[in-house]
Amino acid sequence: MITRFAPSPTGPLHLGHAYAAIRAHDMARAAGGRFLLRIEDIDRQRSKPAWEAQILDDLRWLGLSWDGPVMRQSERLNIYRQTLEKLWDRGFLYACTCSRRDIEAAASAPQEGVSYGPDGIIYPGTCRASGAPRPGQPLPDAVLRLNQERAATDCSFEEICEIHRGRHAITRAEMIREVGDVVLARREMGTSYHLAVVLDDAAQGITHVTRGADLFEATKIHVTLQKLLELPTPTYCHHMLIRDEAGKRLAKRDDARALATYRAEGASPADIRRLIGL
Ligand code: GLU
Repeated sequence: MITRFAPSPTGPLHLGHAYAAIRAHDMARAAGGRFLLRIEDIDRQRSKPAWEAQILDDLRWLGLSWDGPVMRQSERLNIYRQTLEKLWDRGFLYACTCSRRDIEAAASAPQEGVSYGPDGIIYPGTCRASGAPRPGQPLPDAVLRLNQERAATDCSFEEICEIHRGRHAITRAEMIREVGDVVLARREMGTSYHLAVVLDDAAQGITHVTRGADLFEATKIHVTLQKLLELPTPTYCHHMLIRDEAGKRLAKRDDARALATYRAEGASPADIRRLIGL
């Protein structure tokens, strides 16, 4: 078994991250497997080396050890680009010039308003024909969308954790209608979360993807991409989220629940485990 923790270095780790990291770590260790660390720093505006340093320090303090070197997405931009070129040449991508406002205007049917999928507004397909590659055209420096009509196939994945346990079927029709042509490359990133996570999980040989239940719906996109790229589909564990007293999930801005705050107040790693029920 190989699991991973994949934080973005855009703020301090809070109790929710501690929960995710400990679940992934303990699952691998209990099975005599490997636990890997990946820093998801493709958002160059928000990612900061100082946050990464603090994340590693907090994880060590929690008593979590990871195997092998840390993977950093910022060091893999050429891998993402090569994959985008391959998909572009095979006609699975198209360039999209729509602004958010264009999309909202085109997507809102008069009575129903805008429909949302796991990746936000379901794209109405405005640029699908005009943005398609012409013969010999190199990968453009543009927002690139996945053409689901071409990409989607019926597929499925296995979920082993508490909320969604069981086998989940994904149909081609559902991907076209309810997910739509998601963005695989943002201009300022040269990739997207979805593409990077699929390529990185495969490159690290992750057998069990453990992460918060907020990403359960996005898994359809990831499994579709795995099929398209002929990569193995791992087993998934989407675990519960740690919430505040009001029932809201914790966010990076909740500094009050940052591990650093608990550490400064004298809490021990065992106290943290107790607080989050692990
Ligand atoms: N980097 C993501 C986050 O910090 C996690 C992505 C994943 O586990 O697939 O929320």
